[in-house]
Amino acid sequence: MTKKLLPTTIVGSYPKPKWLNKMIKDHKYGGVSDKVLEQSYTDSIKTVVKEQELAGIDILWDGEMRRDEMTSYFADHIDGFKIYGDVRVWGNNYYRKPAIVDKLKYRDELTIPEYKYLKTITSKGIKVPITGPYTIVDWSFNEFYSKKDEAIYELAEVINKELKALVRAGADYIQIDDPAIPTHPEELEIAKNSIEIATRGIKAYTGIHICYGDYSKIYPDILEFNTDQFDFEFANKNFCDVEVFKKYDYTKDIGFGCLDVHTRRVENVEEIKKNIRRAFEIVEPKKVYVDPDCGVKLLPSDIAFAKLKNMCLAADEVRDEIR
Ligand SMILES: [Zn+2]
Repeated sequence: MTKKLLPTTIVGSYPKPKWLNKMIKDHKYGGVSDKVLEQSYTDSIKTVVKEQELAGIDILWDGEMRRDEMTSYFADHIDGFKIYGDVRVWGNNYYRKPAIVDKLKYRDELTIPEYKYLKTITSKGIKVPITGPYTIVDWSFNEFYSKKDEAIYELAEVINKELKALVRAGADYIQIDDPAIPTHPEELEIAKNSIEIATRGIKAYTGIHICYGDYSKIYPDILEFNTDQFDFEFANKNFCDVEVFKKYDYTKDIGFGCLDVHTRRVENVEEIKKNIRRAFEIVEPKKVYVDPDCGVKLLPSDIAFAKLKNMCLAADEVRDEIR
């Protein structure tokens, strides 16, 4: 992986084109064939990849066009999971909560087809996001294993198989999405072991994305995790977490969330430059990756694009200033 100073990246998701959502819905009710839906996926991936390239993103992903949610997408492809139906999570929002009903076993490729296709349509850097075993189990019902950690470790072995094959296919940057980790600081050792198992023997740059949690409950202990980078959200809490990471010597690379994805306001370039510079209070610039707080899928696509474009312009200017 080529490493320029302050590389820009996205966390993973990008807004799905409205027409893709319509095709997915129509396909579900039989109005659209598998072939047409498949074409819609590849068309939409080309669209969002082009948008990221136009915005100036250095290391991109396919925007998770084929993924519905970050747990059920993987549960659908791993033996031992069953999805009963929608579970209400907050307000009128529902999600397809998986249940573990049998021994967890590797069945299908999880991210490899997405990665291989992306490689054929872009010459930019590629980061492959995959949900971590800790988070998948934490967000699922466990009806099979007597202890939660058994399920997590078994799933970590499944993920390890996938990551090994992914690296053999050419992937050099993997991001494990594990937002559930700070919600149970008492299980940090289990989370750490799960990353150890999932990344065992993996010869690629790895990051762990953790967002919207109380970082003070897991830091500095997470520095013991087997990863090259942590990717955190900072903008949403107005960078107050910078203080958390300044308390101890931060030893990894950092993915520095400098765009608030929970607001439709488009941050201007000057403001984002200031945001990026906050990262240098934690680590030296060569260890900083510039990205939004989290996936941008819930934003209208024009706003997501405008935010990312300003972020890349800001990174360009800061890069020139510190060189
Ligand atoms: Zn996130």
